[in-house]
Amino acid sequence: MAWASKAGHATTDPSAPEAFGICDRCGFTYNLARDLPWQFDFRGPRLANLRLRICRPCQDTPWEFYKPIVVPPDPLPVLNPRPQQTNTGSNGWGVGGWGTGPWSVGQTWEQPVLPVEYAPPMTMSVDE
Ligand SMILES: [Zn+2]
Repeated sequence: MAWASKAGHATTDPSAPEAFGICDRCGFTYNLARDLPWQFDFRGPRLANLRLRICRPCQDTPWEFYKPIVVPPDPLPVLNPRPQQTNTGSNGWGVGGWGTGPWSVGQTWEQPVLPVEYAPPMTMSVDE
């Protein structure tokens, strides 16, 4: 077997020999220091060395979605807040939709309407 057949993609300069290395992903042989860089990827907010020697055709681009989403802080609360007084519902989501709240169309803050289950019971009189 010829010596060059074991070299794979690696090249040899007899005057300046270099170490060979095997790609951790595809298994081909390359020059270790020149053609097998480290594989990096996001671990938390910064890039981390995965300690894998990967050839350039097999290198993965660091995936942005591994970075954590940094949510800005909540706005400062208002001192002594008051509920919004509108006809669209106390939470302002509109009329009749999900989460409308205890207020409905035509109501005002001073005239709440009781729900149906709190209505006075109906009385019946039988005249004979
Ligand atoms: Zn490879």
